[in-house]
Amino acid sequence: MSVKDKVVVITGASSGIGAATAKLLVEQGAKVVLGARREGKLAAVAAQLPKDQVYYQVTDVTKLEDVKSLVQLAKKQFGKIDALYNNAGIMPTANLDEFHHDEWQNMLQINVMGVLNGIEAVLPLMKQQGYGHILATDSVAGHLVYPGSAVYCGTKFAVRAIMEGLRQEQKDNGIRSTIVSPGGVNTELYKSISDPQAAQDLVELWNEPNNSLNPEDIAQAVVYALGTPKHVTVSEILIRPTGQE
Ligand code: NDP
Repeated sequence: MSVKDKVVVITGASSGIGAATAKLLVEQGAKVVLGARREGKLAAVAAQLPKDQVYYQVTDVTKLEDVKSLVQLAKKQFGKIDALYNNAGIMPTANLDEFHHDEWQNMLQINVMGVLNGIEAVLPLMKQQGYGHILATDSVAGHLVYPGSAVYCGTKFAVRAIMEGLRQEQKDNGIRSTIVSPGGVNTELYKSISDPQAAQDLVELWNEPNNSLNPEDIAQAVVYALGTPKHVTVSEILIRPTGQE
């Protein structure tokens, strides 16, 4: 059980779950390549890590060429890729009858096409290597539908289906797939909600005792899944805050 010397590409690594996972992986001897859109935030995460274990590059997961370039950076600098963690996501919740058409488009592009772009960018290389591990941050919202979250839940249901399909299709190629499904995690995710009151309500909910996880709780789960030996596939990890329904 070890992630030592594994090379892991992480999207959505500039904050929250992605940043915490990068830190924990590096602490445990892995090498990471980090992607997200905000360069300053990526640089700040990388600055906390030993220079020989981290690279970063501005990446928009909705652009296939960006994700391919991030994967190539990992291959060039570290010679291989053990894992890609498709973690980037947004959650601009609102009721359907508010018709936030642009937010629906963004959510579908980032949460769903972002994962597909990751798969397309890395799978040929992993098949060539004869091994690899693709993970995605899904959600309890990939299992349950909540009012105000229909489109977000739709994207996370889609990610679960895509990742499970990937597992079935690639299991004989030695390529593993893991769905990471958290409940509420206290991160910047609320900032993608355009209604200030709804964003504030979510922050208040997360701040109640036992009602949210820390990004580090999810990082532990990712490190566990990544550290298992090749004959083990942790196909899904579902983690709730103790107080969440
Ligand atoms: P954060 O907002 O802290 O992190 C989201 C990350 O995604 C940021 O690094 C952001 O970076 C990145 N991102 C957003 N859009 C893009 C894009 N187009 N291209 C590249 N990166 C992008 O929130 P979390 O850490 O909570 O979110 C991480 C994942 O966890 C998401 O998929 C989310 O849906 C999922 N999740 C979160 C839960 C929670 O309660 N917090 C619960 C269940 C799942 P940047 O803006 O710099 O691009």
